[in-house]
Parts: sequence; structure tokens; C-alpha cells
Amino acid sequence: MDSQNYSAPQDLLTGKVIAVTGASDGIGAVAAKTFASFGATVILMGRTVPKLEKVYDDIESAGWPQPAIYPICLEGASEKDYEDMYDRLEETFGKLDGLLHNAGELGQRTPIANYKLSTWQKVLQVNVTAEFMMTKALLPLLEKSDSASIIFTTSGVGRVGKPFWGAYAISKFATEGMSQVLANELEGISNIRVNCINPGATRTRMRATAFPAEDPSTIKIPEDIMPLYLYLMGNDSEGITGQSMDAQ
Ligand code: NAP
Repeated sequence: MDSQNYSAPQDLLTGKVIAVTGASDGIGAVAAKTFASFGATVILMGRTVPKLEKVYDDIESAGWPQPAIYPICLEGASEKDYEDMYDRLEETFGKLDGLLHNAGELGQRTPIANYKLSTWQKVLQVNVTAEFMMTKALLPLLEKSDSASIIFTTSGVGRVGKPFWGAYAISKFATEGMSQVLANELEGISNIRVNCINPGATRTRMRATAFPAEDPSTIKIPEDIMPLYLYLMGNDSEGITGQSMDAQ
């Protein structure tokens, strides 16, 4: 299966409930709209409500299934907030078929020798610890699905420790590790598959911040990398777990 060029049937995600973190902008906003356009009810998670409302309105005016907004600041949320999240989603939807961990903090592009502890803590909290807490809380809801998919978001610098990427790179190594550990724990005993996507260079605010001298017109837009997101979210990827795949 050439998953980078996967062509999804129009009803791929019909009846599925899918949560997307960082759904307010960049890859997350496009992934949420793409999942909705293939029939999913999407839960738009993020911290900037007006931006989430814009994504909500786009989905509603396109006539796709009505989404939901779930405001959450991943830097400040506590374990109790994730337990409450489970209760509210269970009450409203009764199950969860997909969870795209997409939100991310870039932190500083500077040597470890100069890296600020406060930035380190923020990046690790959002990119790793929040993912752990949310995944742990929502696993019982994902278990209620016949075929569920958890997708983590990695990066090329989460596989090779390149200089000056600091906590961001280290957080992505941890994300790859969390995805593997969880995939191996669930394989054979659960309907949940767990994989990582490396988006590759994609035209977003984060990319522009990380590479200010780059001409944005030379790199892909989020819409271009959606085939792999659809493949891993839909049932055609059943049996695929513990993989880290490149979207381009
Ligand atoms: P982006 O446009 O900057 O979007 C990041 C998203 O994360 C936004 O929705 C942002 O919310 C949200 N977020 C950040 N901190 C948050 C917090 N504390 N609480 C809640 N939400 C928070 O970035 P992107 O390029 O689309 O990145 C998406 C994912 O792809 C990230 O995991 C990134 O590491 C990964 N990635 C991107 C590239 C690339 O070239 N773009 C390459 C490799 C990996 P606000 O809108 O409220 O700020």
C-alpha cells in the first residue's frame, strides 16, 4: 500500500468520532476538516477558541457532520481535566474512534548550553506529558470503538538528534517511544492501533518560525499530506500498528 498516495473512499470515516488536538491552525485544522469531509464527527481541541470556531464554521458551512469544540490548554491541563474530558466525551459520544495528537510547541532553536529550563518544561509538557495524560484518560473510550486509531505526530528531528533543536527534538524522540510502547502493549488484546506520522516540511506557522529564511512557496501545504492521515485514521489501516510513517 502506497499510503502517501492513498485514495480514500468518500465514506471512509462515516460514523466515526475523531478528536484532533491543535485543530485551530496548520496541519491540525486541515486534518480536522479533511476527516469531516470524509464523514467523521470531529472534536476540535485547542486553546484559541476563536480560531477553533472558524474551523467549526468551515465544517458546518460545507455541510459535513456537525463538529464539537473542546477548549483545552495542553500546557496547563491537569490529570483531573483529562478525567473530566473522558466523562464529557463519554456522555456526548459514547465512544471514540480516532485520536490525532497533533498540537505541538516548537520551543527555542538554540544550543542545549543556552536552553531555558522554563521553555524545556513547556515543550515537554505540551508535546509529551499532555499526550500521555490524554491518551491514558481516553483509552477506555477508544476501547469502545470497533476499530480505533491513535496517531502521534513526530518529526525528522525526532529520529536523528540534530543540533539546536533542543527540547522539541527530544520531545519527538519521546513521542516515537510512547507510540511504540503503547502499540506493543495493545497489540493482540485491543482494537486500537497506534502509529506516528512525520508530516515532513509543511507550510504552517510553526515551519515559518523554525525556518524564517525559507520561501514558503517551495514546500507542501497541509492539504497535500492528508492521504497518510486518512489512511491511518480509516479502517483500511487495520492491523498496522507501531509504525512511524512519513507523510511525504
Ligand atoms: P502550527 O501551525 O504552529 O499549529 C500548532 C497547533 O498546536 C496549533 O493549533 C496550536 O494552537 C496548538 N498548540 C500549541 N501549543 C498548544 C497548547 N499549549 N495547548 C493547546 N494547543 C496548543 O504547527 P504545525 O506545523 O501545524 O504542527 C502540527 C504538528 O506537526 C506539530 O506536532 C509539529 O511538531 C508537527 N510537525 C510539523 C512540521 C511542519 O513542517 N509544519 C514538520 C514536522 C512535524 P494555537 O492556534 O492556539 O496556537
